[in-house]
Amino acid sequence: MSCNIINISDKQYFLETQVPISSSKTKHLIQIKELLYSGKSEYQKIEVYDTYDYGKMLILDGIVQTSEKDEFIYHENICHLPMFYHKNPKKILIIGGGDGGTLREVLKHPIDKVVMVEIDKKVVEISKKYLPTISEKSFDNKKTNLIIGDGKEYIQKHKNFFDIIILDLSDPDGPAEQLITKEFYTNVKDALNINGIISVQSESLTEQPKLTITINKRLKQVFSSVKVHQAVIPTYQGGIFSLTVASNTNLNKVTFEQVEEKYKNLNLELKYYNPKIHFASTILPKYLEKIFKNIY
Ligand code: SAM
Repeated sequence: MSCNIINISDKQYFLETQVPISSSKTKHLIQIKELLYSGKSEYQKIEVYDTYDYGKMLILDGIVQTSEKDEFIYHENICHLPMFYHKNPKKILIIGGGDGGTLREVLKHPIDKVVMVEIDKKVVEISKKYLPTISEKSFDNKKTNLIIGDGKEYIQKHKNFFDIIILDLSDPDGPAEQLITKEFYTNVKDALNINGIISVQSESLTEQPKLTITINKRLKQVFSSVKVHQAVIPTYQGGIFSLTVASNTNLNKVTFEQVEEKYKNLNLELKYYNPKIHFASTILPKYLEKIFKNIY
């Protein structure tokens, strides 16, 4: 039995570990039907729960990574924002993303190839077994090249190659710790083509604002155009979540009409993303705009 399970009045709950780099004292308590898997890989503790409200959930080191109910919000945003900012992305790199949700979304586009570098093969195996609806057989697609390895090392060996690089990483206090540094972002810039775009999960605006600011400040040291987008993803603690997209081409020059034309031509099957949400998601409420004035 996991020490993250607690019993209250004969009901079982998963108690999420406090997210890192947060001053919050609030914790997430989720009623579970059962613990489906609990084990340890070389890198982290992996758990899968079946829950009443969110369906099956993947947990790494006590922190929720994804859930069947709302994974589409996170995966559509982290993928389609950069893919629609870009005119014609063909070569895509995902670092992390072991559950396969981002891979599934990338493969909806007319791309040539997608490389996915995930450090922990056990996350891929467990996700395929217990959460098959998230990857939807994307790992078997002939355009997919899954590499089990450290994204930090992989990126150093590639120059001027990728159109889009997506950092679908866990919080930076485990194997992803070195992947929010200026040095790493510089290596990502070097691995991108001239018009290349990076997309980063940049944590909760309300729960981990310091972390979002750090990620954004470092991205701004390397990329001239940085845009923070927000989405509410109920499974993640703390309300408003952020996805940041950056490039050395001016993302502000991409117009609604351009995105809409591409969106109509591609006619993808999506549940969250559309051109209106693409642009609306850059707008923050006033109280957050004030906290994030250094980013905007
Ligand atoms: N949706 C996410 C969240 O909650 O933040 C991310 C999910 S995805 C499962 C994160 C993945 O990043 C994990 O499977 C983890 O193994 C992988 N990862 C962490 N550090 C990495 C590294 N240095 N290189 C490649 N993958 C890494």
